Amino acid sequence: MGAPHTYSYDVLIVGAGGAGLRAAIEAASAGVSVGLICKSLLGKAHTVMAEGGMAAAMGHNDDRDNWQVHFADTMRGGQYVNNWRMAELHAREAPDRVRELEAWGAVFDRTPDGRINQRNFGGHRYPRLAHVGDRTGLELIRTLQDHTIHLGVTVHMEYTVIDLLLDDGQVSGVLAYDRERGRFYAFAAKAVVLATGGVGRAFKITSNSWEGTGDGHALAYRAGAELIDMEFVQFHPTGMVWPPSVKGILVTEGVRGEGGVLKNSEGRRFMFDDIPENYRPQTASDAEEGWRYTQGDKSARRPPELLTRDHVARCIRREVRAGRGSPHGGVFLDIAWIKEKLPGAADHIRRKLPSMYHQFKELADLDITREPMEVGPTTHYIMGGIRVDADTQASTIPGLFAAGECAAGINGANRLGGNSLSDLIVFGKRAGEYAAAHARSRVAPRLDEQAIAEATGAALAPFERGGSGENPYTVQQDLQETMQDLVGIVRVETEMQDALTRLDALNARAARSGVEGHREYHTGWHACLDLRNLLTVSEAITRSALERRESRGGHFRDDYPEKSAEYGAFNIAVHRDPGGTMHVARRPIPAMPAELTSIVEDQKQ
Ligand code: FAD
Repeated sequence: MGAPHTYSYDVLIVGAGGAGLRAAIEAASAGVSVGLICKSLLGKAHTVMAEGGMAAAMGHNDDRDNWQVHFADTMRGGQYVNNWRMAELHAREAPDRVRELEAWGAVFDRTPDGRINQRNFGGHRYPRLAHVGDRTGLELIRTLQDHTIHLGVTVHMEYTVIDLLLDDGQVSGVLAYDRERGRFYAFAAKAVVLATGGVGRAFKITSNSWEGTGDGHALAYRAGAELIDMEFVQFHPTGMVWPPSVKGILVTEGVRGEGGVLKNSEGRRFMFDDIPENYRPQTASDAEEGWRYTQGDKSARRPPELLTRDHVARCIRREVRAGRGSPHGGVFLDIAWIKEKLPGAADHIRRKLPSMYHQFKELADLDITREPMEVGPTTHYIMGGIRVDADTQASTIPGLFAAGECAAGINGANRLGGNSLSDLIVFGKRAGEYAAAHARSRVAPRLDEQAIAEATGAALAPFERGGSGENPYTVQQDLQETMQDLVGIVRVETEMQDALTRLDALNARAARSGVEGHREYHTGWHACLDLRNLLTVSEAITRSALERRESRGGHFRDDYPEKSAEYGAFNIAVHRDPGGTMHVARRPIPAMPAELTSIVEDQKQ
């Protein structure tokens, strides 16, 4: 096998979702050469699937909103283990980033007086999500893509990065293969930005597509970077539960933002049964007040369906376990009921939630303007990821930056809906800016031929094992079942220890996985390569979850159901020690400046 073809860029961006595209725009605008790699076609990232909107305190629908309230909401949602500096930057800068998108051509829904319309979402005190019906991600991607292309960024579509290359402890580039021909390519780069999204495919029920295999997390980890907060996985409360072929597909929180309510099989709005103390002052005391809130009445408080996702998901699980679930193991989400309140409700629902209307009509033969949907929790998002510096998005490896879902910090123990799209544009921009500055300060890196030869050899090993090796799809399925059953919404020590034992066995099976045939579009071979990453992130989630002996945000331990002040003082980090073992450490959270502390305290009422 000859040496792989080589490309060379100042800044190389891995991932073409919102974070990667926004980073590419900023780096290219700084005048450096920029390459962009994505695993599938341009425009097909998770970002395009985003429905509800992006959170930015512009105060268009309620002038009491401002960055301080958004900051406090994000910290409360994250249960105060967030990187407070990231939460601050995000809240301060999101409105400018949204206005910038508008200037670049994004067409948002409007208020009657012509400003960007903002909708309600869980955990946000005021209506804050700029949106385009329930297709906000599509508009975001369309706008960013147009801008990226016109700045002369070179795009490598259907290329998958399998290793980061290092030169004297600094990142020097990446090794990738193309899906079409299965050939290898080395990319030399003075700075690399990882923007590879999430890890949902480590679980059986997920809203994530085949691309969500935790590649960036695992690439960074293998290269020696630190991952933090990996125990915090978000199980979105409302995924489709029926028919089985679509189980896990997301039902946007926008349905509840528009007045949709959750009911059990007895017809009871069970979310009123359990309202956490720290949200009680902000939560409606009855159905009437909740409805008024969704219709923009500023004197009303939000309905309990709009409590944070972790809490709503656990309430749904409780109802199902108590035998009060829907026929297919979920609960009922009813938006059709608003006909009692709103003239022309069916048209209103079709206009505000067009994707949801079509999704249920086409996939479940159900008309959401007439009947309730059946919904249940689905693995949606990971709060944990690559540890980065808040201002620059630099990881712990020189020359390596990360942004978007694969980076960690802003969300703490739980992300508020809408805070991801705004995270992408705020921190994507910062990552691009600082990666370009880093590239300018460096001479061209040297690519390590030996490391490249070893990595390509290892990547081709499944062909040598051939058809007698383990079937990679079976290993992946077993992994997903392990994580779903033993490290899911509710966790206990014994089950997670069991998961670690099973992960060891799965690692051994993955090392024996084999495929036959040629390298063109060989999805079985790709599955073998993805397994490495899925196993790494699964181990990181399990070890971090074992270490956090309390319940907080997305991490709920049945054996430690309470929140503990001791555990609120640090983040859990994992890194690879020189022998290749995963090492778990506690990283103390620095004290918040007085100005931010007083904002948090003021907003507790
Ligand atoms: P992604 O958009 O996931 O993009 C990742 C990119 O990395 C892709 O281009 C992929 O091809 C590439 N990639 C991955 N691995 C490799 C590799 N090894 N080599 C090369 N390329 C690679 N958030 C909100 O704020 N509001 C919402 O309304 C909302 N709705 C959502 C609805 C759904 C159905 C889903 C799934 C998520 C939703 N989210 C929402 C969450 C949000 O969309 C994601 O967190 C966010 O889009 C992630 O963006 P990203 O740029 O980090 O990664």
